[in-house]
Amino acid sequence: MSWESVLGHDRVRQQFATAIANDRLASTFLFLGLSGIGKRTFALKLAQTLLCPRAADFHPCGTCPSCRQVLAGEHPDLEYLCRIPDRNQIIMEQLIGEKGERDGFCHAIAQKPFYGGRKVAILDDADDLRHEGANALLKTLEEPPPNSIIILIGTAEQRQLPTIRSRCQIVRFAPLSWEEVQQILLLKDLVSPPDMAERLARSSGGSVQNALHLFGEEVLDFRTQWLEHLAAGKASDETLIKSLQSFVERAGKDATPKRRRLIEVAAWTAEYFRHALAVLAHGRPSVEMQQSPDQELVRLAVSGATHWQGTLESMAVALDRCLLIESQVMANTHTVTLIESWLLELNQAAHARASHYPSLAAISPLAYR
Ligand SMILES: [Zn+2]
Repeated sequence: MSWESVLGHDRVRQQFATAIANDRLASTFLFLGLSGIGKRTFALKLAQTLLCPRAADFHPCGTCPSCRQVLAGEHPDLEYLCRIPDRNQIIMEQLIGEKGERDGFCHAIAQKPFYGGRKVAILDDADDLRHEGANALLKTLEEPPPNSIIILIGTAEQRQLPTIRSRCQIVRFAPLSWEEVQQILLLKDLVSPPDMAERLARSSGGSVQNALHLFGEEVLDFRTQWLEHLAAGKASDETLIKSLQSFVERAGKDATPKRRRLIEVAAWTAEYFRHALAVLAHGRPSVEMQQSPDQELVRLAVSGATHWQGTLESMAVALDRCLLIESQVMANTHTVTLIESWLLELNQAAHARASHYPSLAAISPLAYR
């Protein structure tokens, strides 16, 4: 069992292999990148490699007791911590134990390695560390125990607290290729048949998690309809508002899946406006868009830029508005009200006038190749 089970991220793997070969491995890392691209899988494989006494050429043997314990999640020298599902942050007790006890993640790292080799500690969901928790971790990050490797896993750099960021070596993970996403969906039996996996993978932005959120004809079809409406300049259409509200409602009984679904729609919309803005600014799709696996999104963004009656600046405002949705949802803004105000603002942006910004007529015809 080697690194074959980790798809993508060859560059990062090479960096670690070189650092280990040169005996220059740092001890605290912050893994950053989109959710659902395999950062945790990579961290666990790295842990298995570092802990395997028979590892050769940066490959764990896969059969020794240490390798088997890592795979079973039972290795005494591997600590793993993530946010408890119904909490919105990593809680203090997870880091330093109950009051008066010597327990928790920080205490576990400080213990001597059971097998006498290394200790590896992985803290997932680093986005959900708050100041108090980060403070509890600082001393450990500043002076990690000898032979210990600490890996924090988060998404965007701006979601990490500066005190954490400055004490870790940042390792950036790129999105997977659509082919890799398709391969994972099929290999893990998450989706079938292959053409469905391909359609999902192409629209996933390189994340298996995104692909799974799109799974089910309903979601993928809603995405297409939704973006078609936007591209046709119908953001304030009553039917569009209603169909989005009912789509969000159908996500589940509780507030959490509904919120997640609205954040997802906002993310698609932001991606759509990001592409449309590039077309509006340059008169044609960027090279990135021409090479994008999601040609449906590209086609709609080009069409949306063609029909846009606002200005370049107002489209940037529309994009910005979409990027704010997640924080508003997380701040518990009522989703029905939020959808109404969001779409109203998108509609205002679509009809904004300002003579000092280039009109669409000045940059058309749009050359799309
Ligand atoms: Zn082994």
